[in-house]
Amino acid sequence: MSREQPVIAIDGPVSSGKSTAARALARALGFVYLSTGAMYRAVAIKARAAGIDPDSPDLAARLGTMLDSTRIEFSGERIMLDGRDVSREIGEPAIGDLASQLSTLGVVRARMRDLQRALGERGGVVMEGRDIGTAVFPDAEFKFFLDADVNVRARRRYAELAAKGVKTTFGEVLEQLRERDIRDQGRALAPLRRADDAVLVDSTDLDADQVVDAMKKRILAASNARKGLKRG
Ligand code: C5P
Repeated sequence: MSREQPVIAIDGPVSSGKSTAARALARALGFVYLSTGAMYRAVAIKARAAGIDPDSPDLAARLGTMLDSTRIEFSGERIMLDGRDVSREIGEPAIGDLASQLSTLGVVRARMRDLQRALGERGGVVMEGRDIGTAVFPDAEFKFFLDADVNVRARRRYAELAAKGVKTTFGEVLEQLRERDIRDQGRALAPLRRADDAVLVDSTDLDADQVVDAMKKRILAASNARKGLKRG
């Protein structure tokens, strides 16, 4: 596939800092930022509104039908579901959990993957998620895998939720995060894992700026090495 500009894939578990890093990196490079988690969350919002039970035996068929008449788009960083801005609603913890459950299904993953590929086909994007470097854009020019100690991630997530006024406890957040990690890493389809050629960035002891700096350095070094190879 030849693209005018590169695709930058950033994968990692909940609260590893990937959204902040991806957004900042996109801004620094003048690229488009795309959160694929927001897309799975939009699916969850529609499923919940349609009263679709995640435990129902015909879940895949019902979701398939639902997705046939679903439009998920971005307007800048806002996510639109059938023309409605759901950017706020997608932040609900219950929606994150439902998104994680529904994202185990092939019918959901295939539709999201196709949509994500269409959004990124011309490059110039920083796309973050769980399977961007492994399944959506295995040929991405740059791949990063962000990770951090689970307690540090839970602390970040708890602070984020508290700032939004969501009532919860640190223990509850840690528990939900562990559950989501296990589900995302253990699912059969496109599980969360570091692509062999992805650069691991451990953000346990790094702040957001340091993470972005580490990524920028890698991108610059790799770009220079490629230029050197072409010349040589
Ligand atoms: O990144 P975020 O927490 O918003 O994602 C919500 C859920 O959507 C994740 O827990 C994961 O199950 C799913 N997801 C996915 N593949 C992606 C992005 C998100 O399966 N590329």
